Amino acid sequence: MLLRIVLGLGLLGVPLAWVSLTRGADSASMAQQPGVEGVTSDTGDCPAGTTEVRPGSCRAPDLPPPSILDYRPRSTLVTEENLVPSAKFPVVDIHGHMQSLAEPGVIEDVVAELDELNVQVYVAADNLSGDRLVRTIEAIEASPHRDRFRVLAGIDFDEPGAPGWGERAARQVEEDIRTGAIGVGEVSKSFGLTITKADGSRLAVDDPDLDPVWETLARLDVPALIHTAEPPEFFEPPDFENERWLELALFPDRRNADNVRFEQLIEERDNLFRRHPDTKFIAAHLGWHAHDLERAAQLLDEFPNVWVELGAVLYDLGRQPRAARDFFIRYQDRILFGKDSFQPSEYPYYWRVFETADEYFDYYRDYHAFWKLYGMDLPDEVLRKVYHENAATLFAGLPSGI
Ligand SMILES: [Zn+2]
Repeated sequence: MLLRIVLGLGLLGVPLAWVSLTRGADSASMAQQPGVEGVTSDTGDCPAGTTEVRPGSCRAPDLPPPSILDYRPRSTLVTEENLVPSAKFPVVDIHGHMQSLAEPGVIEDVVAELDELNVQVYVAADNLSGDRLVRTIEAIEASPHRDRFRVLAGIDFDEPGAPGWGERAARQVEEDIRTGAIGVGEVSKSFGLTITKADGSRLAVDDPDLDPVWETLARLDVPALIHTAEPPEFFEPPDFENERWLELALFPDRRNADNVRFEQLIEERDNLFRRHPDTKFIAAHLGWHAHDLERAAQLLDEFPNVWVELGAVLYDLGRQPRAARDFFIRYQDRILFGKDSFQPSEYPYYWRVFETADEYFDYYRDYHAFWKLYGMDLPDEVLRKVYHENAATLFAGLPSGI
């Protein structure tokens, strides 16, 4: 009797096991059949092409799914919309990239756009040096709008590692500051990522060869705007879990998964800041810590000679409005406005995030962020500091009375 029961159960077990095995495998593939239910994989994820419709249960859509490029949902949210075409207080944009100001007519054209945005002073951060710098300064000086523009100088990275290249670069920087540049920058990401020495080795951000440059800036009391690394996701494989997949898919040269590590570059940068406490550094793009504001706070706490700038990281601030607001209030003396590429239509997004309490609104560039933004509703006192007062304190060469 007992034997019959055991045999019966065994017989029953086999098909059951078979069903779940096949069901698992089958149901995974079955789930990819439009509208058919399946189960999550062992990792708890749904198989590709399906989504979870109930806990542990996946289904494939029975309409052809759009690519992430083509799926552009129309928000049904009805919420307050306070567009801000012009900043509440005059702005100094310390991180400007546009066509050369030395080109005829450029200054006149741009001033009209700056007026609309309430950008009082635009600082060209295009690493100008020597003749290019002289021509640009002359164009500004000759224009009726001479107090609307300023220029940062570049560092000569032509012969990294050659004997005396650091001293030569320092002399050139000093000459450029004497010509009229109000600081250095934007020291580009290639410093650390791609610039190599004659022996083929990567030039590290904390390479002592450049000490004469940083010491010169300390002696002249002018700051350096420095871009180190890139968003951390740029150092990760561009797979389907990479938050910046679209940007990496659009711009192959931004893929750094096989390059020096993000943390290595940040360590070198911090060594540089630590070794030159009298030099004023502005970490461009919030030091690429906008997604990790505690880390940004640690940077500012450890280095009183460091400020941060906001170019091209609005997407990370606007998705955490409360934490970002707290950060801005806590470090209100250490944050400077900068935009990066000069696209007038994009500035109002910054104003709206900083000045309003608006919710769930679009960001201006899909390949940066597929998520929505929220306003930080910053106090006026903080806005004034971020918009122009901190820049006026840091850059002696800015026009007075902004
Ligand atoms: Zn940059």
